[in-house]
Amino acid sequence: MERPQWSLSDFEIGKFIGEGKFGKVYLAREKQSGYVVALKVIFKKKLEKYRFHSHLRREIEIQRGLDHPNVLRLFAWFHDADRVVLVLEYAARGELYKLLRSIGRFSERTAATYAASLAGALAYCHKKQVIHRDIKPENLLLDIEGRLKIADFGWAVQSNAKRHTLCGTIDYLAPEMVEKKAHGYAVDNWTLGILCYEFLYGSPPFEAAEQNDTLMRIVKVDLMFPLTPYVSADAKDLICKLLVKDSSKRISLDDILKHPWIIKNADPSGSISPSERS
Ligand code: AMP
Repeated sequence: MERPQWSLSDFEIGKFIGEGKFGKVYLAREKQSGYVVALKVIFKKKLEKYRFHSHLRREIEIQRGLDHPNVLRLFAWFHDADRVVLVLEYAARGELYKLLRSIGRFSERTAATYAASLAGALAYCHKKQVIHRDIKPENLLLDIEGRLKIADFGWAVQSNAKRHTLCGTIDYLAPEMVEKKAHGYAVDNWTLGILCYEFLYGSPPFEAAEQNDTLMRIVKVDLMFPLTPYVSADAKDLICKLLVKDSSKRISLDDILKHPWIIKNADPSGSISPSERS
């Protein structure tokens, strides 16, 4: 899928997949190769309205440089007078979020497999000096084999320096972001802890009726595990090692992959069939 200049006429446009804040996503087939992709069509007017140009440019620059089995590929992009079009890897099984909400919570095998995929993908991103900063179930897609793909690099940054901007969805914010302190790579490790909890219990750990209460619970690391026989001590141990207030003391991504819960439960292929999920 390399070509100096792409245009919409290179694709047969198929079914409408969904709509985000900035544009519509369609299934498409590249005419010459027959390759199936997802086209994200973004209207320039919307970008102007929300002043989102720089985010999109950053998303494109970052995602173009990443090539990992658990990071959604951005094969190419092009634009015409009205639209910017992203040519993306097609994630046939859609949003992990919808799956989680529909079945309530994942089995330990599924949760550990997704956690290992995320840790591997984040380690790869961090080595490339990319911090995602907005990992949440809505930004995780599943391909036809049930393999997790990190998507949406709109909030990611590529930098060695520590950052100060507050971004991300509140339940997934690390304490250093809530407190508007400088933050670095370890914000993604925190979020991985939130996600492990949510995969296993069905909702994020610091959820509260009021946003301010969530923020307070995050800052205090007010972590409680509901009494349920389903979640193992190993899983809780890993979550406790990720949800640590001092970002320098959080378990590293490499050590997550060596943690007993991951070793015992994660499927090395990274793919989960529908029957294995719950
Ligand atoms: P977004 O604009 O990224 O919020 O996406 C809008 C809708 O399209 C959401 O339901 C996404 O899950 C879906 N979507 C976005 N990108 C892809 C993709 N590469 N493959 C499959 N579905 C996607």
